[in-house]
Amino acid sequence: MIRRPFGPTSVAVPVVGQGTWNLEHDDRRTALAALRCGLDAGMTHIDTAEMYGDGAVEEIVGEAIAGRRDEVFLVTKVLPRNASRRGTVDACARSLRRLGTDRVDLYLLHWPGRHPLADTIAAFEELRQKGQIRYWGLSNFDAEDLDLALAEAGPRGIACDQVLYHPGERGIEHAVLPWCEEHDVPLMAYSPFGSGSFPSPRSRGGAALAEVAQARGATPHQVALAFLVRRPAVFAIPKAARAAHVAENAAAGDLILSAAEIAALEAAFPLGERPARLPTL
Ligand code: NAP
Repeated sequence: MIRRPFGPTSVAVPVVGQGTWNLEHDDRRTALAALRCGLDAGMTHIDTAEMYGDGAVEEIVGEAIAGRRDEVFLVTKVLPRNASRRGTVDACARSLRRLGTDRVDLYLLHWPGRHPLADTIAAFEELRQKGQIRYWGLSNFDAEDLDLALAEAGPRGIACDQVLYHPGERGIEHAVLPWCEEHDVPLMAYSPFGSGSFPSPRSRGGAALAEVAQARGATPHQVALAFLVRRPAVFAIPKAARAAHVAENAAAGDLILSAAEIAALEAAFPLGERPARLPTL
């Protein structure tokens, strides 16, 4: 599994990690086994959120990483409604309790909300000083939102922007990804398989994924992941509750596409115009 330096942090993070949204609906033992299988395969970047299952998913993650905390690059998120100066600190304490740990590696604001960003950032900095989080970042922030955050935080404060990015939704390539590349901020691609709407092999894009997959002895899902992380700023976090899927996704972390394969996929999944609003789920 290829690892890359995670922007302004000193941490080498696997390019493909593990998402956990909706994991509370999967069979618990199977989900726990899948997460641990992912750790064994080097997918040590685990993404969760206080929102997922109203905290239930953080508890599943806590159980999965028990005894292995030091292996994990652990990411969780504060809900915008909780992201006041005091509320952020309190939400982090609850997340730490559910996760069974004393620190989170990366703490994200789940999406821009009504609380002043300056207050959320001040709370993040307090949590950092207390050692409860190592780094903080943002999610669902467009380039203009990132400019505002940068003005508040100063350079090298923002450790990531987590946004919707899959082959069929390349909107972030217009402004968010260039912004991240310019400011050395990692971009974490969420829903890399379209969250349940993976391109059918009968579609133009699906056929292109299948063709590259066949040529490389890979699967279309692996090719999709390799396509997303083709630029060094990008990391991806597929969710998989089945160990077979996890193993497949982990192996994708070693697949490097050629320039010709990337060009074929870019043509099959046209970029389109910049959307009026940042695409989200
Ligand atoms: P996703 O990763 O795009 O797709 C998950 C689906 O793909 C599941 O049904 C999974 O099945 C299936 N799958 C996984 N690996 C596969 C493989 N190798 N072959 C075939 N199918 C495979 O969906 P997502 O959960 O929406 O996004 C991923 C993560 O991003 C989330 O879990 C969450 O951590 C994060 N996220 C963040 C935000 C945000 O606002 N910041 C929003 C959405 C998502 P099984 O589960 O049955 O294995």
